[in-house]
Amino acid sequence: MAIRITDECINCGACEPECPNNAIYEGGVPWTLAGITYAPGEEAPSGAQDFFSNNCYYIVPDKCTECVGFHDEPQCAAVCPVDVCLPDPDHIESAKELLSKVDYLSMIDIERLRT
Ligand code: SF4
Ligand code: SF4
Repeated sequence: MAIRITDECINCGACEPECPNNAIYEGGVPWTLAGITYAPGEEAPSGAQDFFSNNCYYIVPDKCTECVGFHDEPQCAAVCPVDVCLPDPDHIESAKELLSKVDYLSMIDIERLRT
């Protein structure tokens, strides 16, 4: 959960389709994880609760792997025209932890397809 979008986001929407984990949402829009829809501002399963925004695009920490497992660098940061996709010093994860998250996200997707 190491990338966040700051309040300086200009809502261009360029980052959202680039995310391999569908971790980016437009401001005010409910987010989903493992087929469950979470209300705006609702706490994530990990306990993260300070990521939601009504005003600009936001990243769900439980779904962001910093693009580990897919790309060499965070794709949201690569395409953002105003450089507001930044590492979150409050949510640093090791490469091993990020790879575990990749496995977790792919596993729950498979489980969801089975149900
Ligand atoms: S760093 Fe990658 S996985 Fe995380 S929000 Fe950005 S595009 Fe998605
Ligand atoms: S690319 Fe940057 S400015 Fe555009 S919506 Fe994403 S975070 Fe906001």
